[in-house]
Amino acid sequence: MYYYWKNTVINLPIIRKGNIILKLNNFSKNKYYLQFAGYFLIFGIIVAIFTSFINYKLKYSDIAKELNTKANAEADFKKNYLDNYIKQIELMLSSIVRNEITKEYIDSKSDSDLENLYNLFYSLIYSNSDLMQLRLIDQDGIEAVRIDREKQSPDLKIILNENLQDKSSRYYFKEASQIRGGDFWHSRIDLNVEHGKIEVPLRPTFRVATPLILNNQFQGILIANVLMDNLLDVLTNSINFNVYLIDKDGEIIISPDHEESWSRYLENRPTIFEYFPQLADHLQINEDYRDSKLFMFSYASLFRNNEELKILFTPKTEVIGEMEKNNTSTAAIIALIVLIVSIPLSWVASIIPSRLQAALLTTYDEISKYTKIIDRNIPTSRTDTEGVITDVSSRFLDITGYAKEEIIGKTHNLLRHPETDDKHYEELWLTISQGLVWSGEMKELRKDGSSFWIKQTITPEFDNKGEIIAYTSIAQDITEKKMVEEMSITDSLTQIYNRHKLDDAIKHEVNRFNRYRTNFCAILIDIDHFKMVNDNYGHQAGDDVLVKLASMMKENTRETDVCGRWGGEEFLIIAVEAELANAHAMAEKLRKNVEDEEFPPVKNITISIGVAQYQYGETIAHFINRADDALYQAKDAGRNKVVISEV
Ligand code: GH3
Ligand code: MG
Ligand code: MG
Repeated sequence: MYYYWKNTVINLPIIRKGNIILKLNNFSKNKYYLQFAGYFLIFGIIVAIFTSFINYKLKYSDIAKELNTKANAEADFKKNYLDNYIKQIELMLSSIVRNEITKEYIDSKSDSDLENLYNLFYSLIYSNSDLMQLRLIDQDGIEAVRIDREKQSPDLKIILNENLQDKSSRYYFKEASQIRGGDFWHSRIDLNVEHGKIEVPLRPTFRVATPLILNNQFQGILIANVLMDNLLDVLTNSINFNVYLIDKDGEIIISPDHEESWSRYLENRPTIFEYFPQLADHLQINEDYRDSKLFMFSYASLFRNNEELKILFTPKTEVIGEMEKNNTSTAAIIALIVLIVSIPLSWVASIIPSRLQAALLTTYDEISKYTKIIDRNIPTSRTDTEGVITDVSSRFLDITGYAKEEIIGKTHNLLRHPETDDKHYEELWLTISQGLVWSGEMKELRKDGSSFWIKQTITPEFDNKGEIIAYTSIAQDITEKKMVEEMSITDSLTQIYNRHKLDDAIKHEVNRFNRYRTNFCAILIDIDHFKMVNDNYGHQAGDDVLVKLASMMKENTRETDVCGRWGGEEFLIIAVEAELANAHAMAEKLRKNVEDEEFPPVKNITISIGVAQYQYGETIAHFINRADDALYQAKDAGRNKVVISEV
């Protein structure tokens, strides 16, 4: 039992090694609730943080998707707007080309037809306030018709005669006169240059031209100057995004911060790469680009120039901020809800484990208590399969008189009593090594050399595979009981068996005979003229003779024979597993040895002996009587003789 507890319960890792439990030892029962609730709460907090983090991440990708959709929509809308805007101007130029008035003027070059043409130009430029200038330049590069819009005013100015200039060397004339009829020429989006200087305030200007081909002959070009202010405002105006317009070299045409627009023309203004270096690889390849916070769309197809304009959307910080704020507050609300839910849950969840914990500790305390009691009161020992002692209880040490370190690592041989024969140990080992339990009494030696008796049960211990790994012995100190027992069968004077034990031994042998036919004999001994010993030397001398004779009987018989005092100065030996002849020889040897021995102060004594072998079916009384008869025959025959009872 002791070892059962010791090995199963005390070794339970949860008790021995569990820090949690050891820590809890000092807590009152109710505090386990707090402890476990704390653990579950921490668990709840972790779940809350984790949940809101995941939510935040998911929302974040939602934001990215939403921004992407918005950017796509805005890019499409602005592209259509720009497309329409340019087409409208082209349409206007086409309408001039196809107009009869134009044809008539080219054919006649008359003043009246020129006046009609001016009227046409006037009405057209009037209808579009972004148009700053509308001209017809003839095949030689000389302005033929020209109407200018006054700066920042609705007034139109008709330029006539000597104020018309030669534009034959200007790039727009050269380039536009090269293309086919019906095609259009687009300038870059430039700043207006007045007398070789960039005009301030900045006036972004865009020119559209088409050749005038009539009667299969190049008659000049039609060219419109468009003020891009309004258009660029529409392009760059957005609630959600900062919008940039850039060209293929990364030069910024329009930036949300107007101080940084027109890097192509104005010194010390940054290119787009300063803000978005990741674009360096993407501008040359004429394709759209997007990353988490940048969306770029090409508008190259709208313009018949080589600028390859691109529009760039980057979410405004306040938009992202607003989205993220919503996102963060959602995450916080989720975390809070999870937390609020986890408080009562953690309390409820901690009930069972804390009860278990309390029960476990109570059990542990009880087991420890019992373990101590057992350790103090029951002698136990444990050996390995080789019989080497690995553990002993305190009580075991008390009984044997050894210190623990003196006994651990030794075998039980240390305690072996010389009276215990090998057979006893062989039987014991045979039993336990077969995996069986052995029980029995054993006489052993203390450290101081004295004897003690234990009754022990030795049980093999098995591992999971059923292999024996150790033996445990639970013992009971039966020394006192054994002493009482021995006293009850021992003659107090001679220290050999008394009459009572002899009676038992005869009965035992009779039973054995009846079962196994094992022959045995009674050797009855009487001291000759003992009365005289007492009379001549005193009672004490007589006692001494009795003691000495008893020990001679032991010496002259086998271990298994039973020697006892039959009464007064008469002794009986039960010679077990002996025929009459063996017993006779044994008796004769004893008689001779006694005769030769000196018994001071009596000197010599003699004994007479009667021997009988037990016969089948006879009573004990009859059997003993026969020995007694033989003894009397020995006396009658002159004493110092052995007589056998013949049947
Ligand atoms: P015999 O040869 O015929 O046997 O003669 P005996 O004197 O031995 O026989 P008897 O039966 O007449 O005497 C036995 C004596 O033994 C009587 C008794 O005083 C003595 N005796 C009996 N028990 C004890 C004892 O315990 N101690 C002592 N000292 N003497 C004892
Ligand atoms: Mg006698
Ligand atoms: Mg006698």
